[in-house]
Amino acid sequence: MPTITPQKLQQALKHFFGYDDFRLDQRAVIETVLSGNDVMGIMPTGGGKSICYQLPAMLLPGITIVVSPLIALMKDQVDSLLANGIHAAFLNSSQSADEQRSVVSAAQKGEIKLLYIAPERIPANSSSFIEFIRNLNPSLFAVDEAHCISSWGHDFRPEYLKLAILKQSFPNTPVIALTASADKLTQDDILKKLDLQNPKVFISSFNRPNIYYYIRPKKNTVGKIADYILKRKDDCGIIYALSRSSTEEIAGKLHALGIKAAYYHAGLDAIERSRVQEAFQRDEYKVIVATIAFGMGIDKSNVRYVIHHDVPKNIEGYYQETGRAGRDGLRSDAVLFYSTGDIIKLKRFATVDGNPEQTAVSMKKLRQMQDFCEAESCRRQYLMQYFGEPFPAYCGSCDYCLSSLEQKDATIEAQKLLSAIARTGERYGAGYIIDFLRGSASEKIQAAHKDLKTYGIGKELKKEEWQWIIQQMLNHGYLNKTDDQYASLQLNDKSKKILKGETRLMLVSQKTEKETDEEEAELTYDNALMAELRRIRYDLAEAANVPAYNIVPDNTLTELATYFPVSFDELKYISGFGDYKVAKYGGAFLKILQHYVHTNKVASRMHLKGPKKTTKKREVNKDDKPSASNTQYATLSLYREGLSIEEIAGQRNLSVSTIETHLSAFIATGEINIYKLVPERKLDKIIEIINATKQTAALRPLKDLLGDDYSFGEIRFALAYYKITA
Ligand code: ADP
Ligand code: MG
Ligand code: ZN
Repeated sequence: MPTITPQKLQQALKHFFGYDDFRLDQRAVIETVLSGNDVMGIMPTGGGKSICYQLPAMLLPGITIVVSPLIALMKDQVDSLLANGIHAAFLNSSQSADEQRSVVSAAQKGEIKLLYIAPERIPANSSSFIEFIRNLNPSLFAVDEAHCISSWGHDFRPEYLKLAILKQSFPNTPVIALTASADKLTQDDILKKLDLQNPKVFISSFNRPNIYYYIRPKKNTVGKIADYILKRKDDCGIIYALSRSSTEEIAGKLHALGIKAAYYHAGLDAIERSRVQEAFQRDEYKVIVATIAFGMGIDKSNVRYVIHHDVPKNIEGYYQETGRAGRDGLRSDAVLFYSTGDIIKLKRFATVDGNPEQTAVSMKKLRQMQDFCEAESCRRQYLMQYFGEPFPAYCGSCDYCLSSLEQKDATIEAQKLLSAIARTGERYGAGYIIDFLRGSASEKIQAAHKDLKTYGIGKELKKEEWQWIIQQMLNHGYLNKTDDQYASLQLNDKSKKILKGETRLMLVSQKTEKETDEEEAELTYDNALMAELRRIRYDLAEAANVPAYNIVPDNTLTELATYFPVSFDELKYISGFGDYKVAKYGGAFLKILQHYVHTNKVASRMHLKGPKKTTKKREVNKDDKPSASNTQYATLSLYREGLSIEEIAGQRNLSVSTIETHLSAFIATGEINIYKLVPERKLDKIIEIINATKQTAALRPLKDLLGDDYSFGEIRFALAYYKITA
């Protein structure tokens, strides 16, 4: 495989899957696979592991064989590939002999790029199976959910052990193993059991920044859950409960409160389980109340919330269950209802008779779960540290950070403090330094110190505020304190960087204003438009007989409703629209958007969508400045002050046409309403002429046709408007 440039790789990602940027380690993993190396990729659930083999499959010649443990999961993956126009198929025991034969023959004819195989399809020592694979001449093997090969993992499947034959029979074909399993023991086991050769291992961060974590007291829980759901009726979510009977009970209560919720647990028969699961995938049920039996096979990207009605047994489980929210990268919630009663109940289960070791492990994990729920600190930090990743004390997106803390830039304060310490010779404790900073008149402050410039430069803060800053700087290693009785404050290398202005100091402080709550996230898209987009997506999904998010995921709809692309070209910049989907579904969405733009007299806002913007962004950020230059802004601000175009030209010493060109830029950004510049009647006429003549380059021919009633300025503005709406 000749090396592929980073640019080409990104284009391929967009072309086949419609995504603008790689996530986490996707790029590095893919490049390594393409270079022919064995790879193990570890990414959290929802991190985007599939792309790691799907994109190489599209770029390599021939077929890629994917081993995946669950039939439901397999079907889902294949459906979503087919929805992108990619030739994929699966072989598993759910198919009739005929179906299997036709897949096999298509594969043999080279008509399939990705073939998913269930591990039970691989017989222990079957040379005929190996021959079958050999005839397909595979370019790559992908082992998804690779932790299933390890008895250390939480989901051991003995059939996976047979996968060792892949490397033995095809030593030159690269293998990529993927898992979300965080623990080292399992990781090493995977490498060994699959017999990977000089594998490169990529471990992505386990942080899921789009998931907001909340812990709530367990009181009137079902009522609170119902309130929560009723506020977001369009969203899908999962409610986990500990016992089978409580899932049924909760679903019943929700029903009584007007919420259509299904329940799911291992006590239901297989047909009912798959019915519920499929209905959830297709958004027919938006709410599922389930035991932890539900989830492994769920590959639904738009789960907006995961609620734990009961406390989970351990952090691993909690993390995995909450990880099912927000796979599409959009903001999602994880809400856990906590009570010590639950902990006491779980302690009884944690005891394994006759196995003190196992009991001790379970007890320890339970204690950690309890610590997590009761901790007076950032939830995300706790989770990350639990998985061995360092993380700062403030995430800004958990109940703790949102309700009581905020992060502030305290660089100036830190510089004052540090120079006070330096000036007084690094010999004094916190009390003295604070008095000195605050300009205390006390005789305790040495006379010579009172002459220093730094004396009294910290008057604006209270004593307690300085204490808080010093404490945090010590905690974060920006200051040293001597161990002797004086506890003198001293500078270190990190403090010097702050003094020089090379690092900024961000500190967490108690929030002064009113609490911000999770409900406050405000959206800047129009809900009516969103509803229409959902409807058309639903229609398309019905027609194609696939789940709705298979047409396009939720974040794609959000982007559409936020930026109003109105042409096929613009559509290509929307995340989720690869070339295939643009061609297949683009028209249907564009029709709605064009109608919307027209009836609401708004312009496309695609220019607000920066090329680098990730799909995570849910709302249009107020700071998003369109690409207008400073001189254009200078014109805009005079215009906003009410000056006429001629006056602005005079004041800025620029020509009228230059000023008009400046203002045109803001028609495109939506900052100036076209009707303020061109009366509607005239605008319609000009647009009509432009449409008729297709003349968009020069003003003169249009002016000649329109006559003296129309100024050059008006025509210029109308053209700018035309260009963004056409
Ligand atoms: P995992 O297998 O790691 O749990 P998936 O491969 O199922 O995750 O991907 C989760 C979601 O993220 C899917 O909806 C997928 O379409 C989406 N996704 C993956 N990679 C990207 C990307 N680079 N940009 C945007 N969305 C992505
Ligand atoms: Mg996966
Ligand atoms: Zn936090």
